[in-house]
Parts: sequence; structure tokens; C-alpha cells
Amino acid sequence: MVKEVNSQELSQILSNDKGRVVVDFYSTECPPCEALAPLLIELESLYSNDFSVYKINRQDNRELALELNVRSSPTLLFFDKSHEAGTRLSGTITVQQLIGAVVDAFQVEARTLIVPDAHENIWDVLILGAGPAGLAAAVYTARAGKKTLVLKGKAKSHLELAHLVENYPGLPPLSGKELLQNMETQAQGFGATIEMGDALDLTFGHDMKLVTTRTNVYKAKTIILAMGKGQHQQTIENEERLIGLGVSYCATCDGAFYRGKKVVVYGNDEEAMDDALMLKQLDCDVSFVSYCKSTQCSETLHESAKKKGIVYYPDARVTSLSGQATLESITIETEAGTKTLEAEAVFIIQSVPSKSLLRKTGINVESKDCIAIDKELRTNLPGIFAAGDITCGGLQVAVAVGEGVSSALSALKYLRQNS
Ligand SMILES: Cc1cc2nc3c(=O)[nH]c(=O)nc-3n(C[C@H](O)[C@H](O)[C@H](O)COP(=O)(O)OP(=O)(O)OC[C@H]3O[C@@H](n4cnc5c(N)ncnc54)[C@H](O)[C@@H]3O)c2cc1C
Repeated sequence: MVKEVNSQELSQILSNDKGRVVVDFYSTECPPCEALAPLLIELESLYSNDFSVYKINRQDNRELALELNVRSSPTLLFFDKSHEAGTRLSGTITVQQLIGAVVDAFQVEARTLIVPDAHENIWDVLILGAGPAGLAAAVYTARAGKKTLVLKGKAKSHLELAHLVENYPGLPPLSGKELLQNMETQAQGFGATIEMGDALDLTFGHDMKLVTTRTNVYKAKTIILAMGKGQHQQTIENEERLIGLGVSYCATCDGAFYRGKKVVVYGNDEEAMDDALMLKQLDCDVSFVSYCKSTQCSETLHESAKKKGIVYYPDARVTSLSGQATLESITIETEAGTKTLEAEAVFIIQSVPSKSLLRKTGINVESKDCIAIDKELRTNLPGIFAAGDITCGGLQVAVAVGEGVSSALSALKYLRQNS
């Protein structure tokens, strides 16, 4: 079992220890931390003769965390004879990264870490995206009797935006919405589960894949990436550079790091306002920048903000972010003109750009953010497939459906060969 320690105990361990130590700075209500916890238990038993693993709550031991320059959770540090060794890991940490880091820090041999069979739900196929690619895949995997979950993100499927589709073979012209609804009903008819939720973090181990949303950590044997091209694009100046340095897409994951600080929530719905209220409870000085134009939604959000002392900027856009090492301020454009808000964090409550989501997974992404696939729709990682616009195939419904089906057949083959 990974032992929990406090600042004092950890300082003692680090000053006395002549051996090797891994320290996990974690936070509560942090899905990537929850995903990492079972991996660390396995790591500790796999290398019990080589090093010890400790965990420490970052929120409760803030001073030590700052002293060690730990600014996000989870962060893993490696110490050899009291000196930091190797390279720190943070955020969503894959099994490969974990083993690579201990090999690097402690010169131990690489071993196979098997993620424990969780007692809860394990999906045979987890599909990210409920557009034509994801739904076509779900029809095939669910019909083949495989436990299938489709996660439907906040961003609309591009098909939903198509006023009239005239070129889908075998069907008379119909609206994109209607076509999508038919696919959804068909997939559910074969037993697929469709849940609302944006993937915020991905951890791809060989045997188990973890997908973290705002409210859940899902476990799956195979994953089909079908997130399309419609999600939030990084259009804010310096957004990409400051990810993890003040830019976050998950207030539940990262909010606690900014307790008592000036923060901005950028969103346009009740979920974003919920995050703002949660940050307020952490004593943050919260501003809410809403790009919602409708009077009705502005009024509801404004009402909630007013009640809780949140500064509200309606019909505004964040245009740029400033700060060298970390975020210092954000610039917004409102009807009244341009304004600069001091902030240590901005929580962008929209779909996570696929590029950021995939960055740490080791998936090969080609130019224009297209996932690289082979003829069987396999990515470079075992058990991970991709289909639809995200592969930059033909950017057409029929192509997305075809790729969805091929990826499902490959996922089924993978399950046959690996179970
Ligand atoms: C206005 C318009 C008109 C079009 N007209 C036609 C037409 O007439 N004929 C034609 O063939 N094609 C048309 N297209 C193109 C077609 O709609 C796309 O090629 C097709 O929808 C791509 O399907 P997809 O499943 O890959 O992605 P999408 O349909 O875009 O679906 C992506 C899905 O992924 C989800 N998602 C994104 N990020 C995440 C995340 N992090 N976690 C969980 N879920 C996530 C989204 O919520 C969505 O459900 C049109 C496109 C547009 C924009």
C-alpha cells in the first residue's frame, strides 16, 4: 500500500533516506490523480525491493509543494539518496511514462506493470465522440455483443450542423440532425450506452485505458477516437503555451491549486457557472467571462453570479493571455471595449482541444492535427483506433461512417486476440 505522509514526515524521509523514493503530490477531486493511484500501488509492489512510494496531499501541504515547485496535480517526484533524480511527471501519466521515469531516475530494469482489474465497470469498447463515426462504430461493437460506451462531448457533431444531407447513399435528402438521431437510436437499440461527457484526460496502459471526464474515470479495453474536428480550437493567443501554467480545462481537477487567487472562468452555460461557484468556495476571486449572446442565458448566469459575488462579463471573448513563466493576466473584448483582468488561472470550460488531450498519450498526430492511422484504423498505440474527421479522411458523413465501421471491426479483432 502506498503510504500517505504529511510535510513533516516527508521532509524527514527525504533528509534521512539513503535509498530511493517516489513522491506523489495529489489532490482531492482530481480525476487524473484518481487514475494514477492504482498504478502507484502496482508500481510499489512491482519494485518493492528497489524504491518506496509515498503520497502527499498537495492542498494540505501547500508550503512544501511550493518549496519543491510542485504546481499541478498529480506531480510525481523521484529522489535518490535525498536528491531529486530523473524527470518529474505530471498530469495524466501513462503506464509507459511511469515505467520510463523510474528506469531513468533509478536505473532499474523496465518491468511490465499490469493495471489491476478494477472491480467496477470495464467497457470492452469506449468510443469518444457521438458523431457518425462514433455511432457507426457503436452499432457494430454493440451488435457484436461487446459492452460499448459512447461519450458525447459538449461540442456539436458537425453532422448536426448540416441543414440538408443529399449525398448519403441510399437515403433521401434529410437533415443532419435527423440522420444523427437515427444513428443514435440504432446504436442504443443494439445495447450501446451513450453518456454526455467530455474526455478531459486520457491514460492509455497496455491492458487498461482510462478516460477521465468531469465526473467519472471510465475504464476500457479498447478506445475508438472519433472526436471530429469541431471541438474548441485554440484561438486564444498564448493558450497552448500556458496550458498547465494557468490555463486549465477542468476546474474540478485544478481549482484547488488556485485557492484564494484571482481566477477567470470562461464559458457559457450552467456547468461553467457551477465551476465558478466551486472556485468561489475555494475563496478564489472569480470573474466569469461569458460568450453567450442570448439574453435568456445571460440573465440566468448573471443572476447566479450576482448572488455569489462573482464578477460577470456578458457577451465577451477572451482574446489573449499574458505571462512569462505562468499566467498573469487575460485580455477580454466586451461591447464596451478591451479590458485586462489580472488572473493566475483561466478555466476554459469548453471541449478540450484534441491536440492537448492527445499530447501526453504518445499517439502519433500528423500535421493539421490529424491522427495517424493504418489501413485498419489502428493508431500507433495498441488497442487505440481512430475514425472520422479526426483522421482527416474525407470530411464527409459516408467516409466517417465507413471509418467508424472499420475501426469497430479492428477493435473487435483486437479484443478477440487479447482476451
Ligand atoms: C455545416 C456542415 C454541413 C455539412 N454537410 C455535409 C453533407 O451534406 N454531406 C456530408 O457528407 N458531410 C457534410 N458535412 C461534414 C460531416 O458533417 C462530417 O464529415 C462528419 O460529421 C464527421 O463525423 P465525425 O463523427 O468524425 O465527427 P463529428 O460529427 O464532428 O462528431 C464529433 C463528436 O465528438 C464529440 N467530442 C469532441 N471532443 C470530445 C471529447 N473530448 N470527449 C467526448 N466527445 C468529444 C463531439 O461532441 C461530437 O459528438 C458537413 C459539415 C458541416 C459543418
